[in-house]
Amino acid sequence: MATIQWFPGHMAKARREVSEKLKLIDVVIELVDARIPESSRNPILQDLIQDKKRIIVLNKADLADPKLSQAWVKAYLEQGFKALSIDAQHNKGLKGLEKAIKELMAPEFEKLAQKGLKPRPIRLMILGIPNVGKSTLINRFVGKNQAITGNKPGVTKAQRWLKIGKSFELLDTPGILWPKFEDEQVGINLALTGAIKDQLLHMDDLALTLLAILREHYLDSLCNYTKLSNDSLAKLTNVDLLLTLSQNWGFKDDYDAGSERLINDFRKGKVGRITLDRIPEQTFGDQAND
Ligand code: GDP
Repeated sequence: MATIQWFPGHMAKARREVSEKLKLIDVVIELVDARIPESSRNPILQDLIQDKKRIIVLNKADLADPKLSQAWVKAYLEQGFKALSIDAQHNKGLKGLEKAIKELMAPEFEKLAQKGLKPRPIRLMILGIPNVGKSTLINRFVGKNQAITGNKPGVTKAQRWLKIGKSFELLDTPGILWPKFEDEQVGINLALTGAIKDQLLHMDDLALTLLAILREHYLDSLCNYTKLSNDSLAKLTNVDLLLTLSQNWGFKDDYDAGSERLINDFRKGKVGRITLDRIPEQTFGDQAND
């Protein structure tokens, strides 16, 4: 798993590398994690890509809450972006993605057609923070394991284009940017999904936060996963629940081992299809009706 420690020097270099690549690109695929669509976006991406055509792709849809994936896609559409969800791991949604990219380029091709010119292959790059599935998507797109996985910023090499049918050319290395750092909840979301190392957060704190989220929004999943009834759960605090689970798993009082197991199960989707980023409440203007 690509968990990189980001220092200002790395960030400047990553930014430079991405802007170099962008010059060659028609459409940017902004890849995010469907479980945390907002938390897994890079803070400067908008600034960096400006008016460049872009599609927001929510990957790992198989792990996310389908209702919320739909709601996030709708929210991005309402913000004027093209957006859709996919599951790169199991090759789901890729055809839809190709179609959406062609739609984005349709106006350009219209102009070419008016000049009597044929459409040329659409040049693509995948851009996102570590662990959102960039390498997986490149591999799926190409159909064979041609893409180089685990590339890190700072390794400069010649750009290669991978041909996808007749319609697309994909840059063989993704653009990698850093995750958001400033917000505590975002940090927790990134750590829970495995996008960042949990250096600042203890596993047991993370596990307790996860239990609180599950209780609030995914009680049925929590009942199924813990094999406890609603009533039994209601009688346990999160600390007691974590202890009970640890004991059931044979870890006795080893709370940390239990926390790790819970978080790993969550990351693999064994707790259920869970989305951590909720859609912000609609605010209808600033009417302070007093
Ligand atoms: P990158 O750092 O953005 O290039 O991410 P990778 O492609 O290395 O993927 C990170 C992890 O997520 C790997 O363990 C992948 O197998 C997994 N992964 C990628 N796409 C999906 C997906 O759609 N669903 C699931 N469940 N896992 C995925």
